[in-house]
Amino acid sequence: MDSGMKRFLNEMADRAAAVAEGAKDAASAAGKVVGEKKEEATARLELMRLRSERESAFSEIGRAFYLMNAGRWPAGAESADHRIESLLGRVSELEMKMAELAAKVAKDAARSCPSCGAVCRPKDRFCPSCGCKLED
Ligand SMILES: [Zn+2]
Repeated sequence: MDSGMKRFLNEMADRAAAVAEGAKDAASAAGKVVGEKKEEATARLELMRLRSERESAFSEIGRAFYLMNAGRWPAGAESADHRIESLLGRVSELEMKMAELAAKVAKDAARSCPSCGAVCRPKDRFCPSCGCKLED
């Protein structure tokens, strides 16, 4: 085998090992997500959903605005002004919900045992890990 080929194969083997290592990390990270408090994971998912809904509203606002200015807003439909106004209302509604959720996630995440540092649920009175009494 010529040395160029050998180097190439060695490099491929190194890369394959790196990929396998990365997959292991990803698997353990996924395990952590599963072990993560369910409510927190749910809140994060909801936050992502709200964010994408807001993005859709933004793009619909842009589209309505464009069609209105180009004189191509369909006749007989709800007026563009009205549509944009209701979409803007929807955006502020979504942003309020997002702020509430973000505050909740931050508050839950901040709660940890002062003695051992384990993550505790807001309603826990004692640390589930070391049994230390938790302040309210
Ligand atoms: Zn503890």
